[in-house]
Amino acid sequence: MRKITKAVPPPELTRWRRHNQGARYQDLPERERRAVRTACLEEQKGLCAFCCCSITVDSGHNAHIRSQARYPRQSLSWANLVASCMAVEHCGGSQGQNDIPLTPLMPECETELRFYASGKVRALTPKAQVTLDVLNLDSPVLRHKRKNALDALLYSLEFHPVEDIPLWDAELIQVFIAECGRETDGVLLPYAPVLANIVGQLLGTPARFPHAPTSS
Ligand SMILES: [Zn+2]
Repeated sequence: MRKITKAVPPPELTRWRRHNQGARYQDLPERERRAVRTACLEEQKGLCAFCCCSITVDSGHNAHIRSQARYPRQSLSWANLVASCMAVEHCGGSQGQNDIPLTPLMPECETELRFYASGKVRALTPKAQVTLDVLNLDSPVLRHKRKNALDALLYSLEFHPVEDIPLWDAELIQVFIAECGRETDGVLLPYAPVLANIVGQLLGTPARFPHAPTSS
């Protein structure tokens, strides 16, 4: 996960809530839902809040960190809304009404999950373990996608093969992590925070994903 810093809600949501006090997310019209997703995707740099795959306004959906079924009064709270992929076997599709004790709004979401070059992920704390299980972040499908994303970036940088990563010096590690933080039109590479996590472990300290000065 990449830590999300919630800025101000989109004006469409604020305006609609002002005119529809006491309403729930299920009442929110499509136009306002798209405005929510657009604003979330700007904050999330085009990545799913949970698995960090690439999503767009059309291919993603609005997800609730705390489920709208169990916490209806928070269903329109801007701090409870993120954009997520539509996968049924992980992320929002796996979460259902379950709580996640480690959320993408917490800075430790970048350090309490450890990713590996194989695509596997391991939880380093009990709350990360619950979250990993609820969101099914170690699903074979996601492992495969993470491994492919790592291979693709290594090839594009001519840093392959993957077996060489443990031999990299600090300078090369920093170049790779900086590359993971590079945005194109406000969008990060798919799984970029995960790839930085994999390589950042070599520095010996918990590697925070690089954030722009204005967004951390
Ligand atoms: Zn996802």
